[in-house]
Amino acid sequence: MATNAKTPANFEVIERHITSRNPATGEVLAEFACATQAEVNAAVRRAQAAQPSWAKVGVRERIAVVRRFQHRLQEHKHEVGRLITREAGKPYLEALSTEVLVALDAARFCAENAYAFLHPEAVAHGNLLMKAKRAHILREPHGVIGIISPWNYPFSIPATEVLTALVLGNAVVLKPSELTPLVGRELVTMLHAAGVPEDVLQVLMGDGATGAALLAAPIDKMVFTGSVATGKRVAQAAAEPLLPVVLELGGKDAMLVLDDADIDIAAQAAVWGAFVNAGQTCLSVERCYVDSKLYPAFLEAVVARTRALRVGNGLDPETDVGPLIRERQLQVVETQVEEARTRGATILIGGHRLPEIGPTFYAPTVLTGVDHGMRLMREETFGPVLPIMPIANEDEGVRLANDSEFALAASVWTRNPKRGERLARQLNAGTVMVNDVISCFGISEAPHGGFGASGIGRTHGRLGMEEMVRIKYVDSDRLPGLPKPWWYRYGSAFIPQLEGMIDFLFGRGIGKRMGGGIRSLPALFRNVRQSTRGKPPAENSGSDLSHK
Ligand code: NDP
Repeated sequence: MATNAKTPANFEVIERHITSRNPATGEVLAEFACATQAEVNAAVRRAQAAQPSWAKVGVRERIAVVRRFQHRLQEHKHEVGRLITREAGKPYLEALSTEVLVALDAARFCAENAYAFLHPEAVAHGNLLMKAKRAHILREPHGVIGIISPWNYPFSIPATEVLTALVLGNAVVLKPSELTPLVGRELVTMLHAAGVPEDVLQVLMGDGATGAALLAAPIDKMVFTGSVATGKRVAQAAAEPLLPVVLELGGKDAMLVLDDADIDIAAQAAVWGAFVNAGQTCLSVERCYVDSKLYPAFLEAVVARTRALRVGNGLDPETDVGPLIRERQLQVVETQVEEARTRGATILIGGHRLPEIGPTFYAPTVLTGVDHGMRLMREETFGPVLPIMPIANEDEGVRLANDSEFALAASVWTRNPKRGERLARQLNAGTVMVNDVISCFGISEAPHGGFGASGIGRTHGRLGMEEMVRIKYVDSDRLPGLPKPWWYRYGSAFIPQLEGMIDFLFGRGIGKRMGGGIRSLPALFRNVRQSTRGKPPAENSGSDLSHK
């Protein structure tokens, strides 16, 4: 009988491997065996066993560990940055600015905020009937958090999520992308060196099947960052065990250049926003809408700045744009650009591979004559491509920007920040930046995430912390010796008393409220009398369950 080589059973039998390569050169950097379901389960069990002691260590000690990691990373920024460039291809400068710096600031945010965040939050009771109670919201770790992360920001994305989970008392099992396992391993090694116990933070090498195995293991929450297609598979797998998930998925971010924008600044931003990390950024500018009054001058500025970009190996300090991560990604980009070209788009610059530099380089590309019928304007491109459309006015800009299944981020460009903030309210996006792009990812206080096809939940900031804890509400009665008036038994006498109470609390006008208050007074003592007498009040009618 023919066997399907992709069945889970065979995964356990046939050892699978992942290969880490330098995308700029194709050089093989390392090879790892993929963790099997049994190994994943064992890792999660070790994490489960280690987590309670980690939670007991206390938040002050965990903050000290985060600070030690921060110092270590600051000292080793050069080695970490170079490793990121070698495995993910991005310019070393971007490895420092968008990975190391972001992780350092995430550590700062965790260290500064975790203590206050975990402090019990007092809840005041506005309802008069509940005034005799004292309450708190407690934030407790989930237990074991599974983190699956992508290759495009292989350090800063998992670092932010792992640090947040750990400082709040969780154990973590991390599955980095199969394309960037060395960077994932480096992050974990540095955290171990800073004092995180080995079983509290574990890294599992592997491919998509290893990710699926982690989802099938007894974790308490999954934080997934990746494509929409995989995100949907994660959500399906999480449905059966009702596993809570955060899904940070794709984007198709719009940039709106209004008629009062500074053309040169907006053009610089568009070029950087579209081509940083060779366009492989969930927050990159994937659609640009420009007021028709500025359109010709804007195009000219964008093309001139794109022409000046230097494409090459990220380890060369002169490089602005590195390679795409792999051939498959390049094919997605090529297919979208070709489809746009055959449907009438004009390529102002770029639009082709650069095989003379290396196998997966693509020239930074600017297109016009695009419309929303093209895949380039609807699907995530994830490559160095900037399609630009003219708009008649801001209303048309908002309409086009919102015409997308994605809702991750957007930007508005105007000399009038108030106008920008007004438009921000009209845009469907988890984040809107006025006169900047992408830098929200480096603002540790800013919640990161979207809605629609862009996902569920948030990472970063206080809201990112909320995802890493479960909420426990603790309510404590300050009059423990008194029975509550709303307890059994009911009866005809209680009805007017309760109606009076409703009038007292919510009636309109002082008279109505006073009257209600007087009628409701006996209710306060009805069960007191009952409990002191040790038997039900005489006026209660109806059958007595205790006799049945
Ligand atoms: P993928 O969805 O291909 O992979 C993401 C991760 O999921 C990888 O570690 C992958 O492993 C793993 N995986 C694959 N299949 C499964 C499965 N069946 N079950 C569980 N895990 C699985 O995304 P990419 O790595 O290609 O990342 C690019 C995508 O990430 C883009 O769409 C981008 O927009 C999005 N992204 C979103 C961000 C956000 O915050 N919203 C930030 C950055 C990126 P392996 O790689 O080994 O196959």
